[in-house]
Amino acid sequence: MSNHGQDRSVVLASGNAGKLRELAGILAPLGLQLRSQAEFAVPEVEETGLSFVENAILKARAAAQYSGHPAIADDSGLEVDFLNGAPGIHSARYSGGGDAANNTRLLAALDGLSPGLRTARFQCALVYMRHALDPMPLVCQASWEGRILDAPRGDNGFGYDPLFYVPEYQCSSAELPAELKNRISHRARASALLLEALRRR
Ligand code: IMP
Repeated sequence: MSNHGQDRSVVLASGNAGKLRELAGILAPLGLQLRSQAEFAVPEVEETGLSFVENAILKARAAAQYSGHPAIADDSGLEVDFLNGAPGIHSARYSGGGDAANNTRLLAALDGLSPGLRTARFQCALVYMRHALDPMPLVCQASWEGRILDAPRGDNGFGYDPLFYVPEYQCSSAELPAELKNRISHRARASALLLEALRRR
């Protein structure tokens, strides 16, 4: 793994303090210091990719370029089978409104559909780039299977959590305690894969 002398900084291409804390804990055994891209003047990247992987690479590349450090970025979203994978990479801006409006639009799109046809999964792509021109980014992908409820349940989490039914626990992901969700989610699984990949490198 390249570093700048003894500097073990890795920049996370996100302004989300929760994500930084979670991933910093996961990478701590490697002696890496995960830093927010807010510390560097990294401009907002236009997510022009057509896949989670492409968008994660665009974000990681910009963070590496503007910080001069290795960078990590994630991109995630919800894939609904009946909607041919929508909202997918457009998950955050599906309705043009916030989380509540996104959930309302999703419920309307699946109105009257039987439980067996409401299959869906959260997807997460997590990318590590040694530098902005890294020709071989580490790419870790994981998913979390579930189905879309016909009404919201639970107050934890964010985004589509109130509508995402988790069969193993027979509740929505917004009804799971945060510590449990953070162990079994798409992001948790992709993070564990990244830890393994960095260990091997
Ligand atoms: P981002 O990758 O953090 O930008 O997330 C993209 C969008 O996908 C979020 O705004 C949510 O709408 C949705 N999403 C991603 N992960 C989750 C999750 O764990 N729970 C609920 N919604 C999620």
